Amino acid sequence: MALIPLNDGEAQGPAVLEARDVRKGFQVRRGETRDVLRGVTLRVGAGERVAVVGPSGSGKSSLLYCLAGLDPVSSGSVALFGRDVASMSGAHLAREYRERVGFVFQQYNLVSTLSGFENAVLPMRLSRRRVAADVVRSVLDRLGVGDRGRALPGTMSGGEQQRFAIARALIAHPQLVFADEPTGALDSENADAVVEHLESLSSSGAALVYVTHDPSLAARADRVLVMRDGVLAAELRGADGAAVLRAMSAPRAA
Ligand code: ADP
Ligand code: MG
Repeated sequence: MALIPLNDGEAQGPAVLEARDVRKGFQVRRGETRDVLRGVTLRVGAGERVAVVGPSGSGKSSLLYCLAGLDPVSSGSVALFGRDVASMSGAHLAREYRERVGFVFQQYNLVSTLSGFENAVLPMRLSRRRVAADVVRSVLDRLGVGDRGRALPGTMSGGEQQRFAIARALIAHPQLVFADEPTGALDSENADAVVEHLESLSSSGAALVYVTHDPSLAARADRVLVMRDGVLAAELRGADGAAVLRAMSAPRAA
């Protein structure tokens, strides 16, 4: 395991994602804000796999939302594919999401009136791109939900909804995928299928940024970022699951 200094911004290749000194505060009461992100700087290159770990409440989901352009930062900047998200119109950001960015939400966010299959192809439909039904079915089969394509989200288990949410994010072949606890609702067999799918996407050049509680899943990334109290407290490269677990449970000073 190697501990690399933070802000090692000279990674190879052009950045698909670049965040500089990102801060995020939420107003908790009138005149009182709570700083959830306290200066995060990060660069992700094409095809890179980055895992984010850290205790509950450390700001992992907030970070992902800010990096993905879905929540505005309080200060600092985020650029996707070299373009500052604060300068993008809503329409531009929406187009990025239809065409080259995927986000797997922790709460799935499936459209309740659409079937699983329809949810999975929604980004393609919205961007008027064609996708063969066979291709969709093979993705759903690999994720273990091939027989649930006609079901509505309300009739699915959490694990099934999660896999349709993943299919939706992946079928459009994005170049950058964010995933918040993508295997959180899955048993180990289905979690493996999801990870293999994410990794096959990454082998074809997509960058992955995912939050996980699972040290062995984090260890499959090129880099593991350890969040603590709204900052990146450590960065590991080439760590195995045991090393990730040690870094996750290290005292605050880590
Ligand atoms: P994690 O994903 O690491 O568990 P989160 O990013 O969800 O952490 O949350 C970090 C902290 O920010 C938590 O204390 C949470 O209560 C707070 N928080 C998140 N979203 C909001 C919000 N919209 N308003 C106020 N506080 C928030
Ligand atoms: Mg979270």
